[in-house]
Amino acid sequence: MATVVIVGTGLGGYTVAREFRKLDRETPLLMVTADSGEFYSKPMLSNALASGKTPETLANAEAKQMADRLQADIRTQVTLQAIDPIAHSMAVSGERLTYGKLVLAVGADPVRLDLAGDAAHAMLSVNDLRDYARFREAVSARRRVAIMGAGLIGCEFANDLCGAGYSVDVIDPATWPLPRLLPPQAGESMQRALAGAGVHWHLGRAVDRVDKCNRGYRLQLSDGSNLETDVVLSAIGLRPRTDLARQAGLSTNRGVFVSRSLQSSAADVYALGDCAEVEGLVLPYVMPIMQAGRALAATLAGEETAVTYPAMPVVVKTPAWPTVVAPPPAGTDGQWEVRSESTAVRALFRDASGSLKGFALGGQAIAEKNALTRELPPLLG
Ligand SMILES: Cc1cc2nc3c(=O)[nH]c(=O)nc-3n(C[C@H](O)[C@H](O)[C@H](O)COP(=O)(O)OP(=O)(O)OC[C@H]3O[C@@H](n4cnc5c(N)ncnc54)[C@H](O)[C@@H]3O)c2cc1C
Repeated sequence: MATVVIVGTGLGGYTVAREFRKLDRETPLLMVTADSGEFYSKPMLSNALASGKTPETLANAEAKQMADRLQADIRTQVTLQAIDPIAHSMAVSGERLTYGKLVLAVGADPVRLDLAGDAAHAMLSVNDLRDYARFREAVSARRRVAIMGAGLIGCEFANDLCGAGYSVDVIDPATWPLPRLLPPQAGESMQRALAGAGVHWHLGRAVDRVDKCNRGYRLQLSDGSNLETDVVLSAIGLRPRTDLARQAGLSTNRGVFVSRSLQSSAADVYALGDCAEVEGLVLPYVMPIMQAGRALAATLAGEETAVTYPAMPVVVKTPAWPTVVAPPPAGTDGQWEVRSESTAVRALFRDASGSLKGFALGGQAIAEKNALTRELPPLLG
């Protein structure tokens, strides 16, 4: 039986492996990963500090335990370097391996800005357990953290760091937090709540340069102002890892281009998770990855299955202002209707015919999440 090879042991890789094993206990399964293969919940990385979680306590299982559970051979600390889709083979840390079916679950890289200054390279980002270990060490015995980016991950870290007693500055060229997910009034409620928790906002401004200064850093912002901090965390977005797929001749766009069956443009090569683009959608969130993992497992087990995406709201883990968002699909015509009170914000996005296409709920309004989700059409039916 030709081996199924999964590259990556994040949520995408482990979900498809687990679901596949429910359907097929015989086919040899090989997983290769550049990290140590621990199973952990990545969303917890942005609210782990205040609750004192360490990389060790965040890891639920080691690679060896996962290998036993999944009846898989898991090779850790090895890197996929090239794929030859014609020969059904690949180079992994210098070794040539063959596959019957290959699944790319290689995730995404944090976007790095090419900033001026003698400490521009010192910015941290947190996208895996090892990054979290570095970040935890960098902030230990320090007091101030500056976060570039007021998106979901930036806001979650800001809230968590305030909870852990840090002085937090957040800088973003947008004029309200979560600009890609929330209409302005809803973003302003988040801004007020996090300011109440201790966040110092620098909105409508970008970071231009980062220089060393005493034991920390000086940031120069685009309006000419400066701020000093001990640690700089960059949270300005992720870019799907597509290089290896592109070099192998696979179609790529923002992500590795795949059909509804998660099949790439090359025979027997599939992709899911943060690296994949399904019918124009790059959805780097837990729920779509679980959906994709189940569908792909069935396809790998012999029954070609299209992924479906129901409406999948994302919970923003900011206890100072609990928020749930189901953004309207890109390009949807319509407008936001916002009702804003001191304890709740309810923003509904309706198209011209009055149908609900998205929502954003903040504060006490999050209680309406399930009812509104039921009203939304599926993203991919
Ligand atoms: C801080 C943070 C908070 C988040 N919070 C939420 C949330 O609240 N809700 C939500 O829905 N989503 C959240 N997300 C997003 C969600 O966690 C991700 O979408 C998901 O974990 C991505 O899983 P993945 O398997 O695609 O990628 P990853 O988990 O990044 O896994 C990629 C794997 O590929 C391996 N790899 C990469 N390149 C190679 C190579 N060349 N050779 C071998 N192995 C390779 C890596 O070692 C790794 O094992 C959050 C993300 C972050 C960073």
